[in-house]
Amino acid sequence: MRLLLVMWCMMIPVCNQGCGQEQQGVFQFFPVPNLKFNFDRDVPFKQADFGDNFLRQIVGDRDQQKQQLARIEVSEADESKLGKNQFSLFAKKLKSQRIGLTDKGKDVAYLHQLINKLRPLMTNRDRFSSISIYVADSPLTDARSFPGGKIVVFRGLLKFVTNEAALVGILGHELSHLDRQHQLEQFKNSLLAQQTINGGVKDYEQFAGFSQVMMNSFMTPYALEQEKEADLDGCRWAFQAGYDPRELAEIFRRLNDRFPDRQNQAPSFLRSHPYHIDRFMAIRDASRELIKTTPGKQLIRGRENLRRRQAHQ
Ligand SMILES: [Zn+2]
Repeated sequence: MRLLLVMWCMMIPVCNQGCGQEQQGVFQFFPVPNLKFNFDRDVPFKQADFGDNFLRQIVGDRDQQKQQLARIEVSEADESKLGKNQFSLFAKKLKSQRIGLTDKGKDVAYLHQLINKLRPLMTNRDRFSSISIYVADSPLTDARSFPGGKIVVFRGLLKFVTNEAALVGILGHELSHLDRQHQLEQFKNSLLAQQTINGGVKDYEQFAGFSQVMMNSFMTPYALEQEKEADLDGCRWAFQAGYDPRELAEIFRRLNDRFPDRQNQAPSFLRSHPYHIDRFMAIRDASRELIKTTPGKQLIRGRENLRRRQAHQ
């Protein structure tokens, strides 16, 4: 058991240091900070070694695990601290790759306008006193969120989207991860695995493995279930904000056309999100159902709004 945990922990520095460009141009929106990382070459493990199966070996089955997770409380202050730490690691990583990160400028202001339309739709909106937005100067088609309310959008994504509705759907997806505390669940999972081995640690900051747990939760991709939830929230919130939710589905159709081979070749660990085509179909179907509820409703696509970086009023 201990050996398995050591293997799991060992994987993290390997990921951070052994890097080959792997995700270029691929729409990820998941929390993996290593922008240059070649799974096949650098990591001698397969998904089954440290994914759900691995956790199950440590903490038992899913129901038992969920009950245990529910008993671990993370305060708002700790959530925010966790996010700040993760963000600073992420910013450092970008800096080491000479990728600029800014919270100023026209793009950031525009993204704030869109976030402000979505925030009132979040179930736990009061937990976030504000949402900070950053734009990363990278061609990756990526976006990601950090506990406590930070969102980073890569310039490649801003180039890839063709209208405001699609961008709103993607921002909704990221806000959903925050709203549902998905990343905190990963954090709690890592913590649970550590606690099971170390035996009932109460103050998680006090034990030696804290930074490793934090890093693990940062590195672990979201579960498929979480991605699907986030996709559907993004779709629903875009619709509720007046946008055409089919534009989010369209993003995945275009990605599937653009990267058909990669989808099949990517190792399952990197494929943390469901296949693009599966996401496309799930969002398309959900969109149709939403649109049926208010036939004839004019839905915004906002191609020109996106071009001018001026949100639909
Ligand atoms: Zn996601």
